[in-house]
Amino acid sequence: MSTDATAPLDPQLVDQQLVDQQLVDQQSLERELNDARAATAFVSGLLRGLSDTDLDGNSLLPGWTRRHVVAHLAQNALAVGRLVNWAATGVENPMYPSREVRDQDIDTTALLAPADLRALFHDTAAALDAAWLALPESRWSAQVRAGQGRIVPASATFWMRIRELWVHGVDLNAGAGCDALPEPVLRRILGDVVTSWQASGAGDGLVLSVSTPAPFTLGDATAPDARVVTGSLAALTAWATGRGSSGITSAQGTVDAAPHWL
Ligand code: ZN
Repeated sequence: MSTDATAPLDPQLVDQQLVDQQLVDQQSLERELNDARAATAFVSGLLRGLSDTDLDGNSLLPGWTRRHVVAHLAQNALAVGRLVNWAATGVENPMYPSREVRDQDIDTTALLAPADLRALFHDTAAALDAAWLALPESRWSAQVRAGQGRIVPASATFWMRIRELWVHGVDLNAGAGCDALPEPVLRRILGDVVTSWQASGAGDGLVLSVSTPAPFTLGDATAPDARVVTGSLAALTAWATGRGSSGITSAQGTVDAAPHWL
């Protein structure tokens, strides 16, 4: 077990692309911090629109009520905060001790009284914001281990958190779909999904054809085994992340569920 956060934990798992980016300049950090605050505000706004009894209702995630989603987002802020602490101290501090502990914590937290659950969401988000603000510039390139075992620089914790907030905001089933997400966020999420498919070999031949707001294509439409799936950026992001196939068409007629990405 390495206690030196500047040494790669396992060279095989280093996300070289992110490490190379060396996102440490002050402007980028401020932009990421603002993006995280906007994502937190998105979820806060949705929570304000939900009554305490609404929290007991179903989220879009199988087996999870809205309470579970809020509990997960609060636990996620703590978990990302542990990575920031890891970067700050150089002492390994994983997101979760194990998948079982993570799941158990979500179940327990979901049982909190509504006011406490809401407060926990806000308090944990604020604590993470403060931890980011306090991290010295020299530590943003310190390497930590992300959820799927990838080794990433501490600066990647911003996007890890931002993506969770936007995606699970939609999962709250509170009237905001993927079309409520900013275009750059959708593009980044869709890019993550495709990268993940490529890494696992899933989705071979799959071509994503984005029709609006700005047409672009992901994948090789001229490949002999190409299966072209078309939709708006929001609809394709929803489909690619396993959140429904509304607004999606395929040249093959039927639209299958997208391959798993996480
Ligand atoms: Zn999540």
